[in-house]
Parts: sequence; C-alpha cells; structure tokens
Amino acid sequence: MLDNSTSAKPSVSWALGLSRGGLIDLPGVGLAHEAAATALNRLMKRAQKSGFKLSIASGHRDYGRQLTIFNAKMCGERPVYGDSGALLSKQLLGSRDWLHAILRYSALPGTSRHHWGTDFDIWDPTAVPKGYALQLQPSEYGRDGPFAQLSSWLTSLMVKDDAEGFYRPYTGELGGVAPEPWHLSHRPSAELFQPLVESAPLIQVWSGQAQQLGQSPECEALAGLREVKAQHEAIMAEYVRSYWV
Ligand SMILES: [Zn+2]
Repeated sequence: MLDNSTSAKPSVSWALGLSRGGLIDLPGVGLAHEAAATALNRLMKRAQKSGFKLSIASGHRDYGRQLTIFNAKMCGERPVYGDSGALLSKQLLGSRDWLHAILRYSALPGTSRHHWGTDFDIWDPTAVPKGYALQLQPSEYGRDGPFAQLSSWLTSLMVKDDAEGFYRPYTGELGGVAPEPWHLSHRPSAELFQPLVESAPLIQVWSGQAQQLGQSPECEALAGLREVKAQHEAIMAEYVRSYWV
C-alpha cells in the first residue's frame, strides 16, 4: 500500500501549479499526487460496492489554466455570477467587490487546491441521464439532486473519519469561498502543500517575474494585479488559509 512516505516531496513550484512535480497519471483520475490517487482509488472501489460510480469531473489544474479562467473573469470576458445566480456587472460593483465576487467561485492562480493533485471534484454519471450537462451546483448534491445519495454516503464516512483521508474543505462555514459539496480533498497529502503557498513567491509569479519557479516567459501577468497586491494578506486569510487544516 502506498502512503505519503513513498510519494514525491512537494515543492514550491508544484504547490503553485507551475510544475508537474511528482504528479502521476492514472487512468480515470488523470494527474494526481500519488498518495491521494491511491486513496481515491480505494474510495472509488468502496463507492462501487455501495452502488455508486464515483467519478472525477475535475482534478489537477495547472497555474496557466487557472490564470486563463481568472483573467477572463477579471477582464469581463467570462460571466461572473452572484450567489443568487444573477449576472454581475464590473462597472456597478467597482474593482474591490468585483475581485471578491470572482474569488468566491474561482481561486487566484497559484492558490488553487487543484494545483496539488490532492483535490478532486466528484460526481456520479450513472445517477443522471446520458448526456447530462454537469453544472457543479450545490442543488445537484442537495436533498433533491441526482447526487444526493452519493453525497450523503460520503458524509456518513467523513463523520466517522473513514473516507480514506478525504474531507470537504468548502462547506460554506469558513472563509469566503462558496459551498462546494463536490470538492474532496485528501487531507494527509494536501496539508503538505499548504506551508508552500506563500505571498512572496505568489506576488513574483503574478507579476510575471518567476521564470525560476517554472512560469514560462510568455505567461501573462495577473489581471487586476494592483487590486490583488493591495489586499493580498486579507485575500490569503479569507480565501486560502481559512481552509487549511
Ligand atoms: Zn474543486
């Protein structure tokens, strides 16, 4: 059985999504931290025995991918929604509230837990009709949603600390991130990355000056950098560190 002692050691560039580090490529899972992938495989097998097909909607995501998502929202090229589902306007909100509206649903590049290969968005394709377009909305995982049974099965394991090390960091109880009942994190692996996500290297990378950390020279700078830099300590506390275990 593999555990963290046999997995590759996390580095700063891996933690920030700038390198693949020791990620392994597993069929059905994709790129993942080795110990997290092993635990996920065990959880999937147990899910199968209980009648679920626990599947990955989204696993590892690198810095460049997260930067594209964040910049597009920051620049108003991708829709930004409020909690009620209403489309928000950058002009009406102002730059500070606009940034926080984005951070509620999208992490700043370099701070996404998906960079680590320890966190996975899950669903069950056998619980919905063929061709179903997954929304990743809390209602899909709530009482009347198609993934309610899978979700309560996972909760029943988590309350007994019997979910192969997985927990849900985004329950809506802490910090500023909206509830994400689909987001599972492998706690023993994820906690190794947390101390590596620090403001100094992040600001370097966001400014486009971090070739030594693995950012490619053509990688664009972070949109809204001035606003992010002005508030980065508060942002780190509210959207990043409040979810550390
Ligand atoms: Zn997620």
